[in-house]
Amino acid sequence: MKSKRAMRRLILGKLYQLLLDQYSVPVSRESFLDGEFTHHELDAVLAFKSGAQIDELHRALDRLEDGTLDVCISCKGRIGEDALDLNPARRFCVNCEKELSHVVGHSPRFPVQV
Ligand SMILES: [Zn+2]
Repeated sequence: MKSKRAMRRLILGKLYQLLLDQYSVPVSRESFLDGEFTHHELDAVLAFKSGAQIDELHRALDRLEDGTLDVCISCKGRIGEDALDLNPARRFCVNCEKELSHVVGHSPRFPVQV
């Protein structure tokens, strides 16, 4: 996996873009990405923002802190770096995601929240 710092910048970059789309953000992109916010302050900034994508990225930051960002929550295997680059908020490895979409596809009336 990329360094923790690089992943953090990747996630923060996506978060910043989402925040900009919906809210005015009182800091520049660079100061946001360079972590002038502590994790705690970031929690505060995000506390009153809503949106599934923002929530997911926020949780991804927590998992990055825990060191579990690249661990599939289903099989505990590694989520590939390429997959994380595309979507750092993903929680399943490629294999589990395939199985899940299979399950979801067969139970359209009971969509699984992933
Ligand atoms: Zn998996």
